[in-house]
Amino acid sequence: MSTGTAKPQPAPGQQRRKAKGPRPKHVPQRTCVACRSTDAKRTLIRLVRTPEGAVAVDPTGKRSGRGAYLCARVRCWERGINEKTLVRALRLDGLTEENRAELLRYADERVPEGPEDEDEVPS
Ligand SMILES: [Zn+2]
Repeated sequence: MSTGTAKPQPAPGQQRRKAKGPRPKHVPQRTCVACRSTDAKRTLIRLVRTPEGAVAVDPTGKRSGRGAYLCARVRCWERGINEKTLVRALRLDGLTEENRAELLRYADERVPEGPEDEDEVPS
């Protein structure tokens, strides 16, 4: 006997289903290892662990390896570097003096002071 395998046809209009709720584009969120605030990727700067066990700045975000993010704010860099949140995020034992100086110099030269400080608002 033949049951006739009639394929259930997709009802017209069902293939293009509308997204429910306010869900715009997917924006990858990253977390700053110093202040733990999340932000869209572009406002955070990526750092990557090199095969040599050092930390390198990865402005393009394309280097391979374990990465961590810091806000584009000098204070997050200083905090991340000096309080070891960065090395911990990258599963390192620590930074060499040279590496630390290099990162702080990068922060000093390339990272903006940042807009209004969020945690310490002068009144
Ligand atoms: Zn931060």
